[in-house]
Amino acid sequence: MTKSQIEKFAVGYSSYPTDCVEEVLKVTNFDEDVAREILDDKEKTLAIWQNGTIMIDGVTLCCGYDFAEDAFSKKINIGYCPICGRKIVIKKPMNE
Ligand SMILES: [Zn+2]
Repeated sequence: MTKSQIEKFAVGYSSYPTDCVEEVLKVTNFDEDVAREILDDKEKTLAIWQNGTIMIDGVTLCCGYDFAEDAFSKKINIGYCPICGRKIVIKKPMNE
């Protein structure tokens, strides 16, 4: 996404600073649907803003750490990326 596309996207979220919206977009690898889901939830947005990350299909987007089967085990509670320590704010299945 270009700077102007980011700014255009941020207009819809005027309650957040543009930098914050940009950070959310970066964390999602510019997946606008996932970014919207985060931005619609103030707590999630703040968590990302405070160095949070996302796990998609068992892989953290920050470092690419793959939890493999652990990601889908109900017995294991995954809260943080083991490489960088970022809090995992939302967990998404792989887009199909
Ligand atoms: Zn990480």
